Amino acid sequence: MTMKAGIVRRFGVVEIDDVPRPAVGEGEVLVRLRAAGLNRADVIVRDGRFPEQPPLPIILGVEGAGEIAEVGSGVRNLEVGQRVVLLPTLVCGSCEACQSGVDSRCRALRFLGEHTDGTYAEYLNVPARNAIPAPDSLSHTELAASILPYTTAWHMLVTRARLRRGETVLVVGAGSGVGSAAVQLANVLGARVIATTGTDGKRAKLVELGAHEVVNYRREPEFSGAVRALTDGLGVDVVHNSAGGTTIQESIHALRRGGRLIGMGSHSGARAEIDLYSLYRNEIEFLGAHAADSRELGDLLPLLADGTLRPVIDSTFALDDVAAAQVRLVSPDRFGKVVLSID
Ligand SMILES: [Zn+2]
Repeated sequence: MTMKAGIVRRFGVVEIDDVPRPAVGEGEVLVRLRAAGLNRADVIVRDGRFPEQPPLPIILGVEGAGEIAEVGSGVRNLEVGQRVVLLPTLVCGSCEACQSGVDSRCRALRFLGEHTDGTYAEYLNVPARNAIPAPDSLSHTELAASILPYTTAWHMLVTRARLRRGETVLVVGAGSGVGSAAVQLANVLGARVIATTGTDGKRAKLVELGAHEVVNYRREPEFSGAVRALTDGLGVDVVHNSAGGTTIQESIHALRRGGRLIGMGSHSGARAEIDLYSLYRNEIEFLGAHAADSRELGDLLPLLADGTLRPVIDSTFALDDVAAAQVRLVSPDRFGKVVLSID
């Protein structure tokens, strides 16, 4: 049996093609995907720029949601027809990190759609632990748009940066999927939120999501001055940075003494020049993040299920229009997630 999938056979091009439908192995489930969320990582893998580039061909797609089509032997807690959302991280389950619940640091960590076939497809087989029963209140599109941004924002703000109620957080790159999730989450957690965007058109949307102030970094590339003016000259407690590049130095300048900078993502550049004095003299904690721990999804799902957190969806495209969807993904006008609908 075959299925339709968005596959990369040569770098730079994702094409829709008929490929063999994956078989379900022991301890796995086969998921009939109904929606796939797009991420910048998809484009990086497509173009051959991924640091751990997998061999071609590869089916792209890190995020997905759908229904269980088949259950492999040894799987007891899931059944055919059940709605599920996919956990994108593949882990060994037995190393020290996995055993201690910090599976984001698994020494065998891999991602769907980056190291192995992903969710731009009608079917995908995954280990049973990666198929998470989904709340009925969320559509497949909403589910596929939620998991990575919210678990990443949660991992960055709550677990890594230890954001507390009453603190002030600056979200740099607030128009991206993870940035818009961070604005909402920080607001729900009781923080004062300052967001940066390069487009005035996004200002009202960011305020609607929970930003208390918005700074346009195109008008003020040295945005730390504007942020300091908004904080009585003191600076913010935490910066959530999903942009990288030159925004890292400005993020350090925007922090109060002893502030925390949490970074993940580098679409503005994977290299940054830093004035070490600004880091040392102000006792800044510069923290990195990569993946969320699977247990963090358990903390988040109730907030998504009851509507406290509402995924921001920029646009949806049919699987056949995957190339256009990826063009939209990298458009500066995009606000929130781009999702593929898979009939
Ligand atoms: Zn492990």
